[in-house]
Amino acid sequence: MRITFAVVSAALGIILGACSEAPRADLVLTGGRIYTGDSHLGTVEALAVSDGTIVAVGRDAEIERRVGPNTRVIELAGRFALPGFNDAHVHLAGAGQQLLSIDAAGTRSLAELQARLAARLKDFPPGAWITGRGWDQSLWPEAQTPTRDDLDAVSGDHPVLLKRVDGHSAVANSAALTIAGITAATPDPAGGTIVRDAAGRPTGWLKDKAVDLVARHIPAPTMEQLKRGLELAIADTLAHGVTSVQDDSVRSFGWAAFEALAALKQEGKLRLRVSEWLPLDAPLDQLEAWRAQGGTDDPWLKTGALKAIGDGSGGSLTAAMLAPFANAPGNTGLLLIEPDRLNELVANRAAAGFQIAVHAIGDRANRVALDAFEATARTTGKTDARHRIEHAQFIDDADLARFAKLGVIASMQPSHLLSDLRWAPAILGPAREHEGYRWHSLLQSGATLAFGTDYPVEGINPMRGLYAAITREFEAGGPIGGWQPQERLSIEQAIRAYTLGAAWAEFEEARKGTLAPGKFADIVVLSNDLLNASPQEILNATVEITIVGGQIVYQKQ
Ligand SMILES: [Zn+2]
Repeated sequence: MRITFAVVSAALGIILGACSEAPRADLVLTGGRIYTGDSHLGTVEALAVSDGTIVAVGRDAEIERRVGPNTRVIELAGRFALPGFNDAHVHLAGAGQQLLSIDAAGTRSLAELQARLAARLKDFPPGAWITGRGWDQSLWPEAQTPTRDDLDAVSGDHPVLLKRVDGHSAVANSAALTIAGITAATPDPAGGTIVRDAAGRPTGWLKDKAVDLVARHIPAPTMEQLKRGLELAIADTLAHGVTSVQDDSVRSFGWAAFEALAALKQEGKLRLRVSEWLPLDAPLDQLEAWRAQGGTDDPWLKTGALKAIGDGSGGSLTAAMLAPFANAPGNTGLLLIEPDRLNELVANRAAAGFQIAVHAIGDRANRVALDAFEATARTTGKTDARHRIEHAQFIDDADLARFAKLGVIASMQPSHLLSDLRWAPAILGPAREHEGYRWHSLLQSGATLAFGTDYPVEGINPMRGLYAAITREFEAGGPIGGWQPQERLSIEQAIRAYTLGAAWAEFEEARKGTLAPGKFADIVVLSNDLLNASPQEILNATVEITIVGGQIVYQKQ
């Protein structure tokens, strides 16, 4: 790819030498403040694109010479532009299915829930399952849990299962209960309750393990459903200025997720660049077959890292910790993979040339992942494999420098802090609070930071991540000065982690991450100059134009 480009550039250079005019560009952005992210180029006024690639950056007068009769010109009129964001950790197919389902969050009455359900029926083929989540009857004037009859009144012939906001219970309609074979005679399952009325008839409200009695009948999404969901998630992503993602869909939806993305690419609907992860514990010959089929170099869709889950999460006290949680004596969380097994898988797959990404939240899980990478580096003699730890939320002092030393990327999601601040100080306790979300310490140590969101766990909007990274405060503000303020980043450091750092994490730093000649024309135009804005202005900044490969893929109406 780069060789081809160099050859073409050299040929162009010879032609250019012959005639003194600059070649005409396909697209020119002028009159702006364009933050290139390249330390030598700095901030420029204008930029020219040919064949999807940036060919020149500089002053308006220099770049305007490249405007010809067929050049599309975007007048920035002082607006701010920067490299497209690269989200290093998303679940695109999961986000898509969530966008296809019923969002019941924030409903203020049963009638509003019914109206939301009724409004979406047309999006589902006859008889298709409808799922959703987010209702909370405590916010409703009636304060009553919805029943099967409430759903039946609007659901037609669709089986419906709507989870409560906490995910621990759900309401099913009669069609869903019938498919699951739940009647008055059905006993409660172990660990669950089928709620019944005074006459013993199931009301539709299912608690804990009883939800599974219905949920297990919901079929996996069809190829059409996968594609429709992905289209929605891709549109959401582009509308927020994210032009590349590193995606963990195959682990949840199988190879069909890659095939759905490939079909969208074929149909010209994949206008987002995707690096698709594969499950670390799949058989090696299967992984090699997928890598051969999906490729590793296509600018739009390729296979990437192998993902493993090392532990649970902080909020549920299932992250694997070296010492018990401060608010749960005796509880050190849970490793979800045995260290010996992880070492073996990492050694074996790394030897086959795969990059590996381990989900590790707790300080013990981080140590176990670093140990596996260190053991592999020792046998292969390589520290350039760019293995990565996903989340890397709590890092013991003794392990911090190991990221840089081993060349392990810290792939972190700063917007998690905006939710986690509610409980992170309490679970860590005063002695370990400094272990949390150590962005600045990692950078100082020489490690590479790659930022992302874990979409749809957090929204895809990068502005929340940038805000979190520079303030370490809640969106509404506070704690004053930020939680563990020594770990705050400058806005330029945060942007870099979200662009060039993320590009490095997917071996794409030669083609992505800055606005320099030779790189993909993946550009975002914003409402605010991020380098001269207050944290609240950054949080509220909106995307005006998203450009991928020199094409406008989103424009604010
Ligand atoms: Zn994730």
